[in-house]
Order: sequence, then C-alpha cells, then structure tokens
Amino acid sequence: MRAIGHFYSGRLQPGDGRVSDVFDPNTGQVQAQVQLGDTALVERVVAASKAAQRGWAAVNPQRRARILFEFKRLLERDMEALAYLLSSEHGKVIADAKGDIQRGLEVVEFACGIPHLLKGDYTQGAGPGIDVYSMRQALGVVAGITPFNFPAMIPMWMFAPALACGNAFILKPSERDPSLPLRLAELLVEAGLPTDVLNVVQGDKAVVDALLNHPDIKAISFVGSSDIAQYVYGRGAAKGKRMQCMGGAKNHGIVLPDADLDQAVADIMGAAYGSAGERCMALPVVVPVGDHTADALRERLVASIESLQVGVSTDADAHYGPVVSAAHKARIESYIQMGVDEGAELVRDGRGFALQGYESGFFLGPTLFDRVTPQMKSYQDEIFGPVLQIVRADSFEEALRLPSQHPYGNGVAIFTRNGDYARDFADQVEVGMVGINVPIPVPVAYHSFGGWKRSGFGDLNQYGMDGVRFYTRVKTVTQRWPRGGVLADSSFVIPTMS
Ligand code: NAD
Repeated sequence: MRAIGHFYSGRLQPGDGRVSDVFDPNTGQVQAQVQLGDTALVERVVAASKAAQRGWAAVNPQRRARILFEFKRLLERDMEALAYLLSSEHGKVIADAKGDIQRGLEVVEFACGIPHLLKGDYTQGAGPGIDVYSMRQALGVVAGITPFNFPAMIPMWMFAPALACGNAFILKPSERDPSLPLRLAELLVEAGLPTDVLNVVQGDKAVVDALLNHPDIKAISFVGSSDIAQYVYGRGAAKGKRMQCMGGAKNHGIVLPDADLDQAVADIMGAAYGSAGERCMALPVVVPVGDHTADALRERLVASIESLQVGVSTDADAHYGPVVSAAHKARIESYIQMGVDEGAELVRDGRGFALQGYESGFFLGPTLFDRVTPQMKSYQDEIFGPVLQIVRADSFEEALRLPSQHPYGNGVAIFTRNGDYARDFADQVEVGMVGINVPIPVPVAYHSFGGWKRSGFGDLNQYGMDGVRFYTRVKTVTQRWPRGGVLADSSFVIPTMS
C-alpha cells in the first residue's frame, strides 16, 4: 500500500503513526494511506518553522517575491501532472482540477506584488519635528487547515500571502486528498524557498488541536464545514491567536422574469452540478420569481440535465466525476430521501446511477427538486452534492429574503436585465459575495473572499489586501528629532494636538 507522509526539513517524511485511507473515487478502491500526525510531530515542526522564520522575514520582500515568481513558473510547467494528481484523489474532472490550480496560482501572482503591498504609511511633520510611520511585520509561524474540495487553490489562498509577508507556514491539508499539497511544498523548495519555511503536517482533529494549542502559532486560517470552523475559531481565539475561519454554504441563484433564461440555465447547470456540487460557491438553490418563470426554468433545466454527462474524472467529455467518498455519497443520498420525505417534488433522482466498468465508484446522477420550501431541513442544510433545489418565490422581495434569512451567507447570484433590481439586490442581500448575471462570484485574487453568517467566522477575508492584513501586524512609530535642547518640561497629561 502506497504511504503518504508529511513534508518538513526540506523533504517528504514517512511518518509512523495512525493512518487514514485515501480512495480513488472513480473506482471506490483504497489507493494509499496517509499518515496522521500527532502533538509530538506538531511540536517538532513548529520548532523547525520558528527557527526558519527569522531568516525568512529578514529576506527583503523583492527577493521573497522572486521565489514566488519562480513557484508560479513551476506550477505552469507542471500544470498537467498536478491536475491529474489532484483529480486522482478528489475525483473532479481534469479541466476543473486545472481551474483549482489556476485560481491558486492567481493568488501567487498577487503575492508577487508584495514589495508594493507591504509599503507602510508615513506622515511627515505630524507635529514640530515629529514624523509618524507604520510598517507591516510578519506574525511569525502561522498555520492553515484546509478542506478536501480545493486541495490546490485553498492552500495557495493562504500560504502565498503568508509567505510573501515573511511568515513561516504550516499546512494541515484534508486527509482525503493529501498528495497535491505535498507537491506544492516540493515545488516551493525547488523554487528556492528556504528549508522549513513551508511545512506540511498531515492529520485529523489531533493535529488541528495541537496547532490550536501551540503558543508559537500566531494565526490560523481555516476553511471547511461550519461547525468545525466555529469550533476552530472559538478555540483559537480563546488562545489569543488571530483567526479566520470560513464555513459551509447554501448559495441561491435568483432568476427574475426578465432574465435571459437560456443563459441563466447554462450558468446554473455548471454552477449546480460542476465538481459534483462539491464547491462552497456552488449554486444548489435556484429561486425563480413567479410561476411562469419557474415553469419555463424547470423545463429548460430538465432538458439540460438529460444531456449532462457523468464520467470518470479523466474523461474529457464528462461534465463532472464522482464525489469524494462513499460516506459522502451516502450522506447526499440521505438528503435526497429527506427531501422526498419532507414533501418536495423529486423531478430527477440521481440515486442508483452506475457507470459501466466503475460500479464501485462514488458516482451520483444529477438530482433536481421542485417546490422546496424554506421550512425543509434539506433546504436549510448544506448538501454538497449534485442536487439542485427549486424554491419558488412570488416576488422580488421574497427572493431577496430567502438568501438573506438563510443561516449561510457565502455567495448569491441574481439573473436579470433590470439594473434597478440588481443594484437593490446587491445593496440589501445579507450575503458576502454577490454575482450579477455571474453564477459563481468568487472574487479575483486582488479582491478578497469571504462569506457572512455561518459561512465565515472572523473579520478578515481570504487573499487580496485582507490576506496581507491577516498575515501581518502593524507597528506604528512616532519619532521626534529635536534640534537641540529640551523642548518642553515633563508633561503629565496625555499629549494632544490641541
Ligand atoms: P471539514 O470541515 O470536514 O474538514 C475541513 C478541515 O478540518 C480538514 O482539514 C479536516 O481534517 C479538519 N477537521 C475535520 N474534522 C475536524 C474536527 N472534528 N476537529 C478539527 N478539525 C477537523 O470540511 P470538508 O468536508 O473537507 O470540506 C467541505 C466543507 O468545506 C463544506 O462545508 C464547504 O462548504 C466548506 N468550504 C468552504 C469554503 C469557504 O471558503 N467558505 C471553501 C471550500 C469549502
């Protein structure tokens, strides 16, 4: 059995602890076992990271950026192989795996601008002979805990800005697809990153807790499901760490009667079923306004579903591949049954789908529900599979209320030709990321990513300037250079500018 270990001291390390199975989702077979680290390993890696960080922070930002430029070149060089590796454990199709890598690479590109991004503020003459300036300094050793569904992009959201700012970074990837993050670590070393500035510790809750408890970890970025995000956030914040924890989602696509329906359906199909629905910015709920829009939309969705192709992840014609595990497949199926039991109309049932030659793979056909209502648990919960739910609304106001009152608030999209409605919607909806005729509004690398409510705990988003802010702390210097002699007697009141 192939063994997947950790990465520290500049190379792959075997590990000798508990293990967890890593599946090939296409065949359903165990293809490897990943090591699960423990507290002792975390202690050891943090100590190495701490020693390496001082030197790394002293490298000037332009030189740090050059290593990231080279890392970007290596990602482009190896794109094909990386995409196959990613897909082999995750199950997403190759083109989508390349997108996963590319969206991370774009954050690396952003981080290459770090010399400019780290420039501080300066005020000359804030008082007589007084200047004030501020600088952004690295935190020290920071950590990232990532989910299975974007094993390339999300680690790069985190470590690209963290490293650029001069921190050492410890990555704890998902135990379900742990290989791609190890390749990223190897490529960083090949690009010239000094030993132990980026380390990877594989593991589960035990490693997460060891990172949360370690006093030398100054900040933790987490992306995963909401209950765990909330736990990690609370525990880390109580330990005095800087925390940003992104959670789950249930994103709505609002379709107004004036929308270009063919375009909206094309967009919704890709956003609902792409990557088998295993995206935190997927669009698993569609809200047509008015029964006329709902009926027309449903008819087109059903027709599009007929031509959807589910296949192995290496099939270039497949629209999506298997889900990540048998357990996740069973969970999705139980939510389909829940929808039926709650009285929603099951228009297309993806259960029982079998791909010839891959009968043990974790495949699910596309599922469509109509007449889903906000009271249903299958609507309130994140399903995270190829399941699309139609919730009919009578008015714009009702359509605006649905995502606003939903416990999750990651992304939302509105399809319309009406600028007034679109503008009001963007202004009033209680969701962190809004698409106007854009189904998956993941912000580009120089903006930043973050949801509201149960989709995000903490106040700074991922990447963009928020990433730079998260991984640095500001030091502000007030300096005075008197021109000789004592300027004033001791003052016992707070200095002011009055
Ligand atoms: P998950 O919550 O199961 O795992 C995320 C990470 O937490 C993994 O590294 C895992 O090892 C660790 N973990 C699991 N159980 C833990 C526990 N009890 N204590 C401490 N750590 C634990 O999430 P997942 O299934 O890997 O990923 C899918 C979820 O992530 C979905 O809910 C999805 O919406 C969410 N997600 C959110 C975003 C976002 O930016 N908001 C992006 C991608 C995925």
